[in-house]
Amino acid sequence: MQTVYIAGGAGFIGSHLCKRLLADGYEVVCIDNFLTSSKKNINPFFSNAHFHFLQKDILLLTEHDFEHIPLPQYIFHLASPASPNLKSPRSYMSYPIETLRVNSQGTYILLNLAKKMSSRFLYASTSEVYGDPKVSPQVETYWGNVNPNGIRSVYDEGKRFGEAITIAYVRKFSLDARIARIFNTYGPHMQNDDGRVVSNFILQSLHNEPLTIYGKGKQTRSFCFVSDLVEGLMKLMFTKNINGEVVNLGNPNERSIKVFAQLIKKLTKSSSQIVFEELPADDPNRRCPDISKAKKLLGWEPKVPLEEGLQKTIEYFKTV
Ligand code: NAD
Ligand code: UDP
Repeated sequence: MQTVYIAGGAGFIGSHLCKRLLADGYEVVCIDNFLTSSKKNINPFFSNAHFHFLQKDILLLTEHDFEHIPLPQYIFHLASPASPNLKSPRSYMSYPIETLRVNSQGTYILLNLAKKMSSRFLYASTSEVYGDPKVSPQVETYWGNVNPNGIRSVYDEGKRFGEAITIAYVRKFSLDARIARIFNTYGPHMQNDDGRVVSNFILQSLHNEPLTIYGKGKQTRSFCFVSDLVEGLMKLMFTKNINGEVVNLGNPNERSIKVFAQLIKKLTKSSSQIVFEELPADDPNRRCPDISKAKKLLGWEPKVPLEEGLQKTIEYFKTV
């Protein structure tokens, strides 16, 4: 049986990945300090003998931590706050230093573990490395337009460092590593207080509170349902001979935030008003993945239509 470590495995995407790996017959070791998640995401897995949990900050990992758990053939590095919202207590803006450290020093620690154990490594990067892009859709060869010290920089530059050090290990040590540039992902287990647009609009609609559009709502995003994203991560990790590849994973179905607000209102049958609030600094104007590379290299593309994924997410938010 092969063993997979998932740093950040208790989070939104990580918990779905744990579930999928267990279902596919892997031994799963989840490492998480619950900085931006809670145990409830992984509670169902504790009864599975193939699931192991290490409650630990990855910055504090030592060799002793691995004495009683199987050693990894594969390591996913998903550990990082992922939300940009200033109002959220759990966002990377609330945890600026933690975000920089987990993506820099944390990536270094996990890369050394992968090197020592000869494990394959996948780093969860982000579409934020493209910043406020001047090219749309964003293709992997685009270098981005990032403010190096703006309010989002702790995340953007942390992830850019994470990419740089991952590729340095590929070049210097021939480590078998890959990088996923993940675009906006949604679904059950999203945090309900992270202030992101999907959770905000659904919760506001369900409570018949005003939907808060930042700016004029002309900025675009492209939303990928979490099961599609997990399938993409699986293919990126388990496809052989793609060492050092950087691949966009996201849904190219792009729409404006205003249209998105109207869609959520419709799906929740909400009578909420729509209100306009100030646009945060450096908010990217457009975001849409070019997924040609993922299609060609991995045979992957998203399958879940937005309305179907949103219905599932709305049902989830009714229960939290
Ligand atoms: P999340 O916040 O739900 O999950 C991140 C997990 O990492 C949490 O469980 C958190 O407690 C854990 N963590 C953070 N710092 C840690 C540390 N020092 N040690 C151990 N655990 C730590 O976020 P998510 O949405 O599941 O995102 C997962 C990964 O995907 C992140 O790296 C994020 O940057 C990336 N990503 C997510 C999206 C998205 O739309 N959700 C988009 C692009 C990239
Ligand atoms: N947004 C919004 N209202 C909200 C929350 C977010 O209009 O209540 C906007 C935000 O300004 C951004 C987009 O929705 O333009 C997506 O924001 P989110 O924080 O979900 O993700 P990101 O900006 O990282 O793509």
